[in-house]
Amino acid sequence: MVLAQLGGSIARALQQMSNATIIDEKVLSECLNEISRALLQSDVQFKLVRDMQANIKRIVNLDDLAAGHNKRRIIQQGKTSVVMFVGLQGSGKTTTCTKYAYYHQKKGWKPALVCADTFRAGAFDQLKQNATKTKIPYYGSYMESDPVKIAVEGVETFKKENRDLIIVDTSGRHKQEAALFEEMRQVSEATKPDLIIFVMDSSIGQAAFDQAQAFKQSVAVGAVIITKMDGHAKGGGALSAVAATKSPVIFIGTGEHMEEFEVFDVKPFVSRLLGMGDWSGFMDKIHEVVPTDQQPELLQKLSEGSFTLRLMYEQFQNILKMGPIGQVFSMLPGFSAELMPKGHEKESQAKIKRYMTMMDSMTNAELDSTNPKLMNESRIMRIARGSGRSVRDVTEMLEEYKRLAKIWSKMKGLKIPKKGEMSALSRNMNA
Ligand code: GDP
Repeated sequence: MVLAQLGGSIARALQQMSNATIIDEKVLSECLNEISRALLQSDVQFKLVRDMQANIKRIVNLDDLAAGHNKRRIIQQGKTSVVMFVGLQGSGKTTTCTKYAYYHQKKGWKPALVCADTFRAGAFDQLKQNATKTKIPYYGSYMESDPVKIAVEGVETFKKENRDLIIVDTSGRHKQEAALFEEMRQVSEATKPDLIIFVMDSSIGQAAFDQAQAFKQSVAVGAVIITKMDGHAKGGGALSAVAATKSPVIFIGTGEHMEEFEVFDVKPFVSRLLGMGDWSGFMDKIHEVVPTDQQPELLQKLSEGSFTLRLMYEQFQNILKMGPIGQVFSMLPGFSAELMPKGHEKESQAKIKRYMTMMDSMTNAELDSTNPKLMNESRIMRIARGSGRSVRDVTEMLEEYKRLAKIWSKMKGLKIPKKGEMSALSRNMNA
């Protein structure tokens, strides 16, 4: 079995599991059998496959998981909930506290922020700045050095003010020190949070398991937020964090700004891990930004998987029209990372316009062809002459086309959800 097929088989097995509402012994066994079969067909040693099955079954203790799920404390609008944030320094904890507060504020909550990070100079200023920007009340002190005292005072103050979501930011340190954990434990004991959220930088990789476990052993972590998912890291560490804390990932951070914060959705995450791009977010985006009358046609073309130069031209037009470049296509890794890297929007636009000028010199037959061999040397030379560009420019554009066509072809046969279906699905998966 070639690698791509193996990837496909594993993805299908995982897909079946993620479609199941309840993951029980039977669903898990079926998934593992499916994966094992694919591995065996790929000549993976029998013993390795058998051990893997046994290991996974041992790690994934379904009874435990179910219990953990039931025990998970849930924050409820209307009554006051205290949510405590923990994580190492630099993980993005302070930023995430405000993002979390801001997200809930937009949903009608009355959040408030308490800065119990007395360790890092400037932590209070940072929180204050973010809170002011988002108009969220905050509490902290420049003088008091006891984080427990600040946390308790802050929580009490905001309870009196009938705030229904009180978020406590705690100190992070460079490494997992005993003092940090002791302080965290004390703050937790004194404020009795309804939920403790562990914040983890997606790029920490292999160290994720130990780090998450260390935090879980000190305080009752109930949820995980993975930050910096906009970077290069695939975020595989998130799986370790989930395993170590037996808690779900609830949000991901995708940038430094307040709005760059998303409800965690299993599907695009797994796709990203397997390098398949973010199809579900992509579909939602299409529904959101492509004019309704053009959607059926585009979706039809998507599911056919054939990507002509004309289709590329039309997508470029869409991109340029949309203002902030890359709204739709930034959802696809191939489109965003290489064609339109963040921070280079101007150059990207110029490049797209250049490509379009060259395509203006193409014939209808060339634009509508799905035959890559059609574009021979004499055609390339004619296009170069017609658009006043070099042969190299035209070749580059065609290379770009081939690359995008390859990404596009992966969507072939994709079942296209109707509007709203995908979001409903994401919600179910998060529930
Ligand atoms: P703390 O020490 O854990 O409180 O971390 P901070 O909140 O101060 O964040 C550390 C740095 O990471 C800051 O420069 C943040 O702007 C940045 N940061 C936080 N979350 C994200 C994210 O999701 N994406 C990116 N790119 N940067 C982030």
